[in-house]
Amino acid sequence: MTGTASSTLLYQEATANVEDAARAIDMDQKVRRVLLKPMNELIVNFPIQRENGEHEVLQGYRIQHNNVLGPFKGGMRFHQGMDLNESRALATWMTFKCALLNLPFGGAKGGVAINPAHYGTAELERVVRRFTHALGENIGPEFDIPAPDMGTDAQTMGWMMDTYLNSRGPGERQNARRVVTGKPVELGGSLGRESATGRGAAYALRHLYGQLDRTLSGQSAAVQGFGNVGSHVAAAFTELNMKVVAIADISGVVYNPEGLDIAKLTLHASQHRGVATFDACDTITPEEFFALDVDVLVPAALESQITAENVNDIRAHTIVEAANGPVTAEASKVLEEAGLNLIPDILANAGGVVVSYYEWVQNKTSSRWTARDIDSRLRDAIWDASDRVWSIRNDRGCSWRQAAYIEASNLLQKVYRLRGIFP
Ligand code: GLU
Repeated sequence: MTGTASSTLLYQEATANVEDAARAIDMDQKVRRVLLKPMNELIVNFPIQRENGEHEVLQGYRIQHNNVLGPFKGGMRFHQGMDLNESRALATWMTFKCALLNLPFGGAKGGVAINPAHYGTAELERVVRRFTHALGENIGPEFDIPAPDMGTDAQTMGWMMDTYLNSRGPGERQNARRVVTGKPVELGGSLGRESATGRGAAYALRHLYGQLDRTLSGQSAAVQGFGNVGSHVAAAFTELNMKVVAIADISGVVYNPEGLDIAKLTLHASQHRGVATFDACDTITPEEFFALDVDVLVPAALESQITAENVNDIRAHTIVEAANGPVTAEASKVLEEAGLNLIPDILANAGGVVVSYYEWVQNKTSSRWTARDIDSRLRDAIWDASDRVWSIRNDRGCSWRQAAYIEASNLLQKVYRLRGIFP
């Protein structure tokens, strides 16, 4: 499917981010035009067999937005709302995220339009293997490198890698493991990859508080999403002595003004398919969640969660976009005008792809870095990008989002100027 009203709007927002940056840096027209369109768009329709013996034909996508900085890079999402326009938006954001973090990668995104909760493990394995087979030569360790995203995880990457390797000649197999990142550690994955997005968001917040000369200890936070990103954001906040008072996930919202025990809640959520039945807390509605009187609000789930409808309810003074595109352009404007701090997604959630890069380098050089080494490199990468965004914002008096796009666009433009556009 090309797009629903909401994914079409999302893609319009992604292209508006590019247009905005192009205007701000007076970008060459030819570079602007190139960055506004994905390079390659792939749709695959492939059959899988369900447990009841029936066959189903699923639709998968891979959008390769840009590779001027290096191989296409980005997650594979399994979600019922996945379509062409959502993939285009997310792939565009990956190009700018990788550029902002100075990674030698371009941007891509893709996935399959299914609700993974409706499929058993054996069925999911067949989906992943058939999807990978359908993608064929369109992914590769020096060409396009998938990673986990919403609805996929390390196991998904393990199946993807195995399927890809089985299509290679025996002599090529070891070297091709880096065709995906976010793999289980035993298969060549990196230590620290699973927690990287959440920890990166916490490092970005620490940087902001440092610049503002504020202390994080004792600050209250509410986190929307308790999956691979939200649960690690909450754990990292707890390490910083912050008080995580509310967590929202698909099962419901839990709230305790004294602070939730994140370790216990993580265990509970894994055993009970969500946070909702956790005791030692109250339950509140999603509307009340966004209106909580907290210092820091972290949308770490789906896109378009803070919109014109609920933006005026927000009482937090700082928003960390751990998800991709969680605040609409309209809502961002309201927040900016109200003087809120907003750490934009391409910075706040870049930790995942940063450690994906470390995984790729470790695979390429047959080395293993320690968890400590990876975490300190991640911190430095996020702080370095934060410094650059912070100074552009201060120099220009623009929003954090604009500053992040300006920084990324400057690099992309420079590279296009140096390389020229063929022929
Ligand atoms: N899916 C993650 C993102 O949106 C990670 C991508 C990657 O590691 O390649 O940034």
